[in-house]
Amino acid sequence: MTLPAYPHADVITHQQNGPNAKVAVVDQDGTIVSVNEAWRLSAVENGYIAEGHGVGVNYLKLCDLADGPDADYAHQAAMAVRSVLSGDIGIQTFEYVCASVDQEQWAMFVASPLPSNWSSGAVIAHVDITTTKDVGQVLKRSEERLRQQLNALPILIAYLDKNQRYQLNNDAYEAWFGVSNGELLGKRIPDVIGEVAYRDLCPHIEACLSGKAVEFEMPLSAGRHQSVYVRGNYVPDVDASGVVRGMFAFVQDITKERALAVRVEHQSMHDALTGLPNRSQLQQRVKSLAALEAGREAYGSLMILDLDHFKDINDTLGHFLGDKLLCAVARRLIETTTEHDIVARLGGDEFAVVRSAAAIGSSCPSWAKRMIEQLEAPFLIEGHELHISASIGIAPFRGRIDDFGQLLKQADLALYSAKAGGRGRCCVFADKMWTDLMRRQRMLQSLREAINTDQMSIHYQPQVDLKTGALNSVEALARWCHPTCGEIEPKTFIPVAESSGLIGTLGAWIMHKAAREAMDWQEAGHRFTVSVNVSPMQIKQPAFLDQVRQVIDLGVQPGWLEFEITEAVLVETDRRDSRVLQEVVDLGIHLAIDDFGSGYSSLAYLKRLPVDKIKIEQSFVRDIGVDSDDEAIIKAIITLGHALGKRVVAEGVETKAQAAFLRDHGCDDAQGFYFARPLCKDGLDGWLDQSQWRSMGGTR
Ligand code: C2E
Ligand code: MG
Ligand code: MG
Repeated sequence: MTLPAYPHADVITHQQNGPNAKVAVVDQDGTIVSVNEAWRLSAVENGYIAEGHGVGVNYLKLCDLADGPDADYAHQAAMAVRSVLSGDIGIQTFEYVCASVDQEQWAMFVASPLPSNWSSGAVIAHVDITTTKDVGQVLKRSEERLRQQLNALPILIAYLDKNQRYQLNNDAYEAWFGVSNGELLGKRIPDVIGEVAYRDLCPHIEACLSGKAVEFEMPLSAGRHQSVYVRGNYVPDVDASGVVRGMFAFVQDITKERALAVRVEHQSMHDALTGLPNRSQLQQRVKSLAALEAGREAYGSLMILDLDHFKDINDTLGHFLGDKLLCAVARRLIETTTEHDIVARLGGDEFAVVRSAAAIGSSCPSWAKRMIEQLEAPFLIEGHELHISASIGIAPFRGRIDDFGQLLKQADLALYSAKAGGRGRCCVFADKMWTDLMRRQRMLQSLREAINTDQMSIHYQPQVDLKTGALNSVEALARWCHPTCGEIEPKTFIPVAESSGLIGTLGAWIMHKAAREAMDWQEAGHRFTVSVNVSPMQIKQPAFLDQVRQVIDLGVQPGWLEFEITEAVLVETDRRDSRVLQEVVDLGIHLAIDDFGSGYSSLAYLKRLPVDKIKIEQSFVRDIGVDSDDEAIIKAIITLGHALGKRVVAEGVETKAQAAFLRDHGCDDAQGFYFARPLCKDGLDGWLDQSQWRSMGGTR
């Protein structure tokens, strides 16, 4: 068939030889006048194998008649071609999915008029755009996923162009500024965050837009948020040639996190109860203070202050009031110090005060004494009037402090000295305290080795009935004969054992040894009590009662054992100690108060504890015939003891006159060099054999 009206139609169709575009030319009626190879092949595949492979078929009719899944786009195509042929519209295009093929295929339909110098008609093309479409879909899908992910992130994300205008932001960004639906897009930063915040952030923004990644944390008042803390990361968006196109802003509101960090930091540096600086902060501040004052002539001082008998307050009034008292002490310390000083709590009832050289002015010990006096003024806590005393150890320093621990140790040693010399005192560190400490540690080591060896022994000193001359009791006194140092006195080694806890082992050894020897005397027919000194530290050890029971299990009659406890200790006993002592008494062992009258005013424990015997402190006895006051005290103690139904014993009786005075004033028993010195077991046996002081068969 010749189509003279369309002499160039083949030129058009044959120019389109690619497999992806099916091209046909139709005349004014919609009849196909020329097709390209792809159209022809498709027509064959689809069964339109007419002459000319579709040429001569009316495309419009074909589309109008279409049914099945492709009908919709066929009708749309017919409409488009008609519009073009009518000359209303230049080019008509639409995309569609070819539903008739197995695999989803996208195509673009194009209908355009023939050139105006040609006969009227149209060019129709079905272009396969599946590949392009796939890439587009993938891009679209990944963009959506990315957006979802960005929106799910709790951090604020935005992209800004180089003119500092928002081009993209996530939901969190909008939510933080209280806007929605892309309201920020196109806006400039200061219009969103405010001029003040912009001024603060400007250096970071400019640095980023000059190509540098920026990281920062800072306080900010932005938009509707006042005084927040933000962490920002700005990352420049740089193209392949190195030109900055814009920047990504990642911002986090870290106000809560920051507040928590500040709180944790505060807690790590402060004592929770009093709010005072704690040990760590003290260390830091003392170091910087010392560095500041390096080279100055004056000294600074670290003082450790310890409340005396604070435990009693906790035990009697409870921890609630104890805590309140500690807070009140902290306040009083702050009131007494200046802003140049540092007041810290080290823990428990221990405080530290650091006086800088600038603040010291007057000498530190006199200042410390004033501090002790001020703490002695009563505290009014929840209706209770509480009285306390404190001891202070002072460690002076000058210049750099390389070892804070050492300085603290020095103040501690000074405090130890202050307490050892009686409480309510202050002491300045001296090198001798180190040597004493070393000596104590060496002694402790030797003592540990000495227990259970023949270096340790017990001497016994008789206590004699002043009326009958009978031997009522012997006091067991520990003796230590060191291989090189010779005899070491109990008043030297007992405190070392007490402060180290070794007193438990030593005390148990003494109890065992004394009990065994008591059994020997019982078996030999003697009837006197063996009295063992018991240290307060022993009573406080959990193993003490078990040790006592083991001693009784040896077979000794408990009634022939007695424990002597120093008065000073009895005054300090707490409820637990009292319970332990009551159990001792329940086991059948007697209790005696040693060194009675040695300076403690409270006699309340006399009611509390089941004591049988009172031993008058030696110093009173020594002054018989010399000091009438001491004589009066002795008489008063005898009266008091008898009024309470206790036996009264005088210690340190060295002369006949002393013995006579005591007997004349009704004292029951006496112990001292006048009667006998402390003797080893064999020595006491010899003394018993030849002495006029016969064992009288017990008074109990
Ligand atoms: P204490 O319990 O008051 O013992 C009496 C001390 O006075 C003994 O000193 C004794 O030797 C001494 N003494 C006795 N009569 C006279 C005298 O007429 N004149 C003088 N000037 N002194 C006299 P010692 O043995 O040196 O013991 C001292 C302290 O050591 C004891 O005082 C006691 O508190 C403690 N102690 C001794 N042995 C032990 C023990 O086995 N365990 C415990 N925990 N402490 C002990
Ligand atoms: Mg004693
Ligand atoms: Mg005594």
